[in-house]
Parts: sequence; C-alpha cells; structure tokens
Amino acid sequence: MRISDILAQRQSFSFEIFPPKGDMSVEQAEKVATELCENNPDWISVTFSAGGSGNSKRTADIGRRIERGVGTTALAHLTCFGSSRTDVDAYVRQLQSAGIENVLALRGDRAPGREAIDFFYASDLVPYLKEAGMCVGAACYPEGHVECEYLSDDLEHLKIKVDAGVDFLVTQLFFDNDDFYRFRELCDRKRIKVPIVCGIMPFTSVKQLQRMTFNCGASIPARVVKRLVAAGDDPTAQAAAGIRYAQEQIVDLAQNGVDGIHIYSMNRPEIGRAMHSALVDCGYLSA
Ligand code: FAD
Repeated sequence: MRISDILAQRQSFSFEIFPPKGDMSVEQAEKVATELCENNPDWISVTFSAGGSGNSKRTADIGRRIERGVGTTALAHLTCFGSSRTDVDAYVRQLQSAGIENVLALRGDRAPGREAIDFFYASDLVPYLKEAGMCVGAACYPEGHVECEYLSDDLEHLKIKVDAGVDFLVTQLFFDNDDFYRFRELCDRKRIKVPIVCGIMPFTSVKQLQRMTFNCGASIPARVVKRLVAAGDDPTAQAAAGIRYAQEQIVDLAQNGVDGIHIYSMNRPEIGRAMHSALVDCGYLSA
C-alpha cells in the first residue's frame, strides 16, 4: 500500500529496521520483522547502508520479505550521493519486482573520497523516483541538519525538497517534543504541507545515546541526563530509563495530534512491544 494513502486515512505507527550486518542472517532479519509485525505497524522501513554499514545490497531483499512474506507494507530507503542514474534505475527495478511502492529518498552521508555523480541532494532524487511511479518520503530535521548551521536555511532546503514531489516526511530522532512542535509550526508557516511522521529512538545506553546524538546533531535535554544519572552505571537501569522516556515521549506526541510515530527499533522486537503497549494504553492504537 502507498504510505501517502495510509497517512490520508489515519495517524500511523511504524518501525525502522536495518538489514543484517555482521553475523546476522537474512532469515534472522525476517524474524525480527515478523515479531515487530505482531504490533500491527502500518509499515516497516528498511535502511540503506546507514552509518556506512555497507549492507545496502540487502535492503530490497528484506523489503521483499516484509511485503511478500510478512504481508506488511515496506518502505525501502535509498541514498543517492555517489550513485548514478543507472544505479538508481537498477534499484527501482529491484523494488518494483519485489512489490515495493514506497521509497525514502535520501542524500546519504558524505564520505571521504566519494563524489556526487548524478545527484547532489535528496531533492535531485525525489523527482526521479516520482517519475518512476514510487510513493516518495524524505528526511527532515526538527533541530536542523547537522551540516546546516541555521535551522532557517535547512527549512529553505526542505521546502525545495518537498516541492520537488515528496509525499511525506520522517523526522530525525529528537528527545524534546517542544523542538518538534516548533518545527511543525515553522513548516506550516512555510507552506510545507505534507504529513510529518515523528522518528523516535528509544535509547538503551549512555554510549549509544552519545553516539547517535553526536552523529546527527540532536540535543540531549537535561531531563534525559537526569534520568541517566539516576540509572548510574547499571546497563539494565539505563535501558529501562530510555524505554520509559521514549514511552512518555510518544504518548505526548500522540496526544498532540502528530501525523505518525515511527520507532527506530534497532532490530529489537522488545522495543517495539514496549512502544506499542504505551500507545495502546493512551488510546492512540487499538489493542
Ligand atoms: P538533503 O535533504 O540532501 O540535505 C543534506 C544537506 O544539504 C542539509 O544540510 C541541507 O540543508 C543541505 N541542502 C539541501 N539542499 C540544498 C541546496 N539546494 N543547496 C544547499 N544546501 C542544500 N542514511 C543512510 O546512509 N542510510 C539510511 O537508510 C538513512 N536513513 C535515514 C532515515 C531518516 C528518517 C533520516 C532522518 C536520516 C537517514 N539517514 C540515512 C541519514 C541521512 O542520509 C543523512 O542525514 C544525510 O546527511 C542527509 O540526507 P538528506 O536526504 O536529509 O539530505
């Protein structure tokens, strides 16, 4: 199903997974997706070589297993920096033969020695994918993209990207919902009118939180720091603090009428279950 159609009908609930890397097999990744689907997500997105993991070749395969095996809508990510039109055409053919209609159009991170070929920004990729008949999502950044010093400049670029044909947006992780509400208001004023789905990362350790926020330039509110100080060095207490914080965050978002909630699941079904139960308890989802 096209995600634009889902978002036209209801507030969404979805998960992100990454394709197998290291020792994980494709079958294990499919098992993760199957377990996440027990929470009835509207879709599952599959990353494309995120964090330089080099596992992009498996994105379409995992997406096919989600669509055909698990029976849920898949959103396949695609980064374009360093890719040619021929590369993108081949990927789109792969997606189409896998029955995948939704793609998240991304520039990807710049890497030393990698040059742009046919696409400089995600806004160059968006119309190309639209022409191929895909439903196209794109990334947005409530606190501004890490390479862009001023949020106002990033919003100008976001407006160009959306006007190039984006059907919906998914946010970078954020920990202070007020940052999102402010961003939503700014988008509205700029006439960025597509649905904005909130991407939420339940953190599970201090180290992971530091790495994620440093990579993407998101800030850590004092409230989060205080909870982690209370958890001390105990890994179980740190993880519990992160899950609890994310549950409170998504309940507040649900109560403030967001277009959708997308959980960065880190391939952990227990995170999916915890987020689902908080949203059932607050009435955003039915049991
Ligand atoms: P763009 O929208 O192209 O923006 C990149 C930068 O260029 C921004 O600073 C923007 O302000 C600036 N810019 C844009 N247009 C212009 C212009 N016309 N003139 C001047 N400056 C401009 N990475 C992966 O490798 N794999 C993934 O699967 C993946 N999934 C992601 C999912 C989500 C929801 C998000 C939020 C991010 C994801 N990323 C992923 C990370 C993403 O690739 C990086 O954040 C990347 O640095 C920017 O990608 P973008 O598509 O937002 O870029």
